[in-house]
Amino acid sequence: MSLDAQYDPDNIFAKIIRGDIPSVKIYETDSILAFMDVFPQSEGHCLVIHKQATATNLFDVDSRDLATLMAAVQKLARVVRDSLAPDGIRIAQFNGAPAGQTVYHLHFHIIPVYEDRDLGAHASGRPADTQGLEKTAAKIRTAL
Ligand code: AMP
Repeated sequence: MSLDAQYDPDNIFAKIIRGDIPSVKIYETDSILAFMDVFPQSEGHCLVIHKQATATNLFDVDSRDLATLMAAVQKLARVVRDSLAPDGIRIAQFNGAPAGQTVYHLHFHIIPVYEDRDLGAHASGRPADTQGLEKTAAKIRTAL
């Protein structure tokens, strides 16, 4: 997928927003959704998206929507910090397949980093079990 690809309204995250496929939600407003990454690179790896902004990546998003999204990323990063006490937090965002993007609805990764644990691979391996994700999401939600 190139950097200037058209937005596909049937991408996985659009389906999650519509409720067509399930997700483990952490936080939701009229404009923002934060949910657990199903291939977590670490405990608490979650994603933050804008629900109305039909942007594939950083280049085609309206700057006001981006501002709303970034404020939510900061809020959720604080919540992850306060609830899970990681040693660091990586914020990631990929543009185009060559950069590692696999879902073409703009999103930010919040990836807690723990000094004694290696990060898992990006978007691969076996999906996490929903029960485990629900448990972590519940922990994260306590700090909202
Ligand atoms: P990216 O590769 O930056 O586009 O990130 C997409 C992320 O979405 C990856 O980290 C995947 O593990 C994650 N992902 C893919 N499908 C789902 C899903 N159904 N629910 C939650 N996360 C997903």
